[in-house]
Amino acid sequence: MTTFKFEYIWLDGYTPEPNLRWKTNILHMDDFSWDHTQLPERWFDWSSTGQADWGSSDLVLLPVRCYPDPIRENWRLVMCEVLNSDRTPHHSNARSFINNDDPNEWWFWFEQEYVLERDAKPLWFPHETYPSYPAPQGKYYCGVGYDQMTHIARKVVEEHLDMCLYAWIDVTCINAEVLKWQWEFCVLSKWAKKAWDDLWIARYLMMRLWEGYGLDLNLIPKPVRWDWNGTWMHCNFSNKKMRDEWWEEYFIAICEALWNRVQEHIAVYGSGNEYRLTWHHETQSIDQFSYGVSDRGASIRIPLWTVDHWWKWRLEDRRVAANADPYKVVAVMLETLHDF
Ligand code: MG
Repeated sequence: MTTFKFEYIWLDGYTPEPNLRWKTNILHMDDFSWDHTQLPERWFDWSSTGQADWGSSDLVLLPVRCYPDPIRENWRLVMCEVLNSDRTPHHSNARSFINNDDPNEWWFWFEQEYVLERDAKPLWFPHETYPSYPAPQGKYYCGVGYDQMTHIARKVVEEHLDMCLYAWIDVTCINAEVLKWQWEFCVLSKWAKKAWDDLWIARYLMMRLWEGYGLDLNLIPKPVRWDWNGTWMHCNFSNKKMRDEWWEEYFIAICEALWNRVQEHIAVYGSGNEYRLTWHHETQSIDQFSYGVSDRGASIRIPLWTVDHWWKWRLEDRRVAANADPYKVVAVMLETLHDF
């Protein structure tokens, strides 16, 4: 008999963006095969997470995916959904909105940008010294040297990468970004639900790791005003037809379909996004829509690689902010494109 510690992780009921919550359950088992259906549901008091009134506070925590813990032996990370007591999805459970989970159909590749912060402020932005320090953006993107990659930054960014890879999260790249002390990691998945579970768990691992360094994760779309880039989570996507057939009109029709539902998409692409989508700093304005080949000022960028390969591969929705709830973004995307 082995003692396992299962860290149940879920999203609370806060709006407009939820927060990660956790609680560890200790189970004594002969073996654990990574099958989340082996794990018991849990009932908690949800009045403290913004998900129920204290007079009727029992909801159900349902395990839906299991990950190895990168640091602690015999610990497991368990992504969970929140259900009502009758087992219907709780209204805060955006994951349940996603229906299409066919690995051959929709693929997602997310570029999660983020900023290191301490005491609720991005590091190294003492407002009183601006603009003399730090130096203007330009050389930070993919930069090397103490000015961008101090010892602690490189350490926590690379430790997080190793943690994600250990936890079976398919991080495909990391890099320093345009804003000082801003970075990015990219996550690929061929399952809609896994893609966004992975992203939430990657955020969780980052926040947990940084506790030990006195750092926090800042996902505010425009963390520093003035002439600095915002922080986003570009959503690259493709379906089987986009990958396997060549058809320019098909790609254009998808862009047009996204144009027809601008408000529905912007509504879940992150709060405070209006300060980032300003037409400046590689963005389209929040009240405009456009698509274009190799255009980083467009809402939807058609990568040159797609055009050069006879209109195959993927599109990039550049409007999604770093703080968006991945479940809601995928849900609205699949809703808009369900006929394609
Ligand atoms: Mg980027």
